[in-house]
Amino acid sequence: MAGQDDADRCVPDVPETTIPVFKRLCAPLGYATKRQLRAMGLRPGGQDPVAEVETRGPKNGLLYEIAKARLVRPMTLAKEFALDRAMAARQTCGTCRRRYFFVLPTSLKSCLECHDGTPADPSSYTAPPAPAAHRLAA
Ligand SMILES: [Zn+2]
Repeated sequence: MAGQDDADRCVPDVPETTIPVFKRLCAPLGYATKRQLRAMGLRPGGQDPVAEVETRGPKNGLLYEIAKARLVRPMTLAKEFALDRAMAARQTCGTCRRRYFFVLPTSLKSCLECHDGTPADPSSYTAPPAPAAHRLAA
């Protein structure tokens, strides 16, 4: 690490970058983005990004060391269940209890059909759970 005194005093006052930034497609071997790690079945595993790489977009991609990456933890049934419960909450209409295959707009708190009568495509939702009809003698 170079000391503060070694810095060129003519360099404009820009926020100090602490990790190297590579040009697009010029990242060295051994580094990968989160997405690339995931494609290899790996995750960063708590390590901080070691470099950035320029992208087509406005933000740089963060690079992690492949050697320090850990294996992706396998999905457990409990994890899958929790994920589905979270998605169900976002996809279920609070009024008609239909579960749609897409996330409902949070501003409406119901599906479009319940909100303004726009008929919903029957293939876009699953049947609402059957009402708790008791089978006791009437
Ligand atoms: Zn509805």
